[in-house]
Amino acid sequence: MGRILKLDTKVANLIAAGEVIERVASVVKELVENSIDALATNIKVELVESGLKEIIVSDNGIGMDVIDAKCCVLPHYTSKIKNSDDLFNINTLGFRGEALPSICAVSNLTIKTSTVDGKGISLRFKDEKLVAEGTISLPKGTTISVKDLFYNTPARLAQLSNANNEVSFVSDYLTKIAFAYPDIAFLFIANGKTIFQTYGNDDQLEVISSVYGFDVARNMLAFAKESNYFSVEGYTSKISVTRSSKQHITILVNGRLIRNYNITNAIIKGYGTRLMVGKYPITIIQITCDAGLVDVNVHPAKAEVRFSMEEELDELVKDAISEILDNNSLIVEQKEINDLADSDPFLEEIDIDEQDNDDEDSDISFDFDKEIVVSEAPSIIFSEEDADPFEENIEPSAPVYEELKLFSDGIALSSEDNDNKLPLMNYVGQLFETYILAQGEENFYLIDQHAAAERINYEQIYDKLSNDKILSYELLVPISYTFTPSEALMIEAKIEELKELGIEIENFGGTTYVVRSIGTWIPKSKINDYLEEIFNSLIRGTKTKKEEFLDSLAKSLACKAAIKGNEYHSEEEARMLLNLLNKTKNPYTCPHGRPVIVKFTKYEIEKWFKRIV
Ligand code: ADP
Ligand code: MG
Repeated sequence: MGRILKLDTKVANLIAAGEVIERVASVVKELVENSIDALATNIKVELVESGLKEIIVSDNGIGMDVIDAKCCVLPHYTSKIKNSDDLFNINTLGFRGEALPSICAVSNLTIKTSTVDGKGISLRFKDEKLVAEGTISLPKGTTISVKDLFYNTPARLAQLSNANNEVSFVSDYLTKIAFAYPDIAFLFIANGKTIFQTYGNDDQLEVISSVYGFDVARNMLAFAKESNYFSVEGYTSKISVTRSSKQHITILVNGRLIRNYNITNAIIKGYGTRLMVGKYPITIIQITCDAGLVDVNVHPAKAEVRFSMEEELDELVKDAISEILDNNSLIVEQKEINDLADSDPFLEEIDIDEQDNDDEDSDISFDFDKEIVVSEAPSIIFSEEDADPFEENIEPSAPVYEELKLFSDGIALSSEDNDNKLPLMNYVGQLFETYILAQGEENFYLIDQHAAAERINYEQIYDKLSNDKILSYELLVPISYTFTPSEALMIEAKIEELKELGIEIENFGGTTYVVRSIGTWIPKSKINDYLEEIFNSLIRGTKTKKEEFLDSLAKSLACKAAIKGNEYHSEEEARMLLNLLNKTKNPYTCPHGRPVIVKFTKYEIEKWFKRIV
């Protein structure tokens, strides 16, 4: 039959950059996309030794005949497009005829395939050559086994240092592609364990529930809206369900998983001021449009696309989201009221600085082109019973607080101690509710109160974290968290590291974990924020050295715990802050390197007013 044809060189050259198979997940992605293109309704992905020994993807799709099966591993052989016109009207996930040849080049490949139930063929390739061929009995469909990935490219193999990460990458990709294809039953097994499964009932909410858990699924709002050229539909979370990264915004365009900065932003804009800064929704959005309006041929992993009429699309997305939020009265839940009422000025929820968030958009994890990727937020859900973890009787010694309280008892701004780094200064006032004004003998100072608080918190938290003896205490009501399957894999691998931080967490079935004990260093009113940030940092996991990890964790926690700009403070609070700042090792910059204090000399000021010339 020979449906697969070789693209002529001209078309082949029009196709964006060559295939890069960099990790287990990139193999899985290509094989699964082929199964979807082959109209499978059942797709099973199995990893042996986290995929490093073997990756097996089986489907019940249309299969291949002998000729096709032999051609499919040759470069630029594809059944999906024929000429350059087709490039502007791509309706399949694949089109470049590059995946199988690239995979074949770095592994030992076996293809078992059949176009009719009962009789099929088996082909085995070694060093890109067909080494065995036979007929076998096989139901309709295709099973591709990729053995010994990167056996001939040790450098790439060495980069996959953490096998656990590979499983997590695969899981993350599969959960997202499952959102796009709720009519396909996916089964993912890694190292003998079922990690994730969907049932193909064509119910997206059911898939959301398998990935994020029931509690998230019931807090999702369905939306749908159309414009001239586009239609969008999907689910987005109520404001009570947020995450600290944009990771959980899944964008699908004509069944393809993509990332797109503008659409992500349009979704966030749709929420307007309903979201706290640094918080993002869980959203699954499917965009449907004429294939001619979207250019998928711009990125080798096809993860980025370009739209015509992009502005219309952004507007549509924003409106669809904001309308659905408007239509649903978003009653603030108890937990949030508690958060709001928790107004200790020095431990106020701090919006993560924009500067720290700059890399947010690069953290989408199905980026198969990057070496270190995945930066994910934990999907945290508080179960009903423990909605108020603050209701506890144990009063842990939260050292950050204690010191603050001490100062609020009225110790004056002291500069006499020998270890003081800052010059003697007197409190003058507050400017723009953001800066503290202070005066010394011959100088005038402006102090950024957020930067100062961050510095204080950072040093205190880092000290506590790097202390060998972290004390912990048992929570009266354990707190439960439900993670996505890929997050759960990361957490599972970090249980010991968490213990070192005083946090005892254990599996509670599926991807739900319960925290039974926490370190006394965690301020009581910030337990949820701190735990969320700790899980986040572990899952993001780019810092492998312990000190580096603790340092970056201390930085992000410090920011969370620090006082905001744009907030009025009493003189006493300001003095307290200056006192604590004075005690830090480096009172001059915040942990991210921004200045804390700026000095104007009296001489300079007098020159402004021409008192001296
Ligand atoms: P592309 O998907 O870009 O066409 P691939 O190298 O991924 O290129 O695949 C080459 C061809 O092999 C496909 O065009 C398709 O005809 C065939 N093929 C690959 N996987 C399957 C599968 N699971 N079922 C049926 N046909 C497949
Ligand atoms: Mg393909």
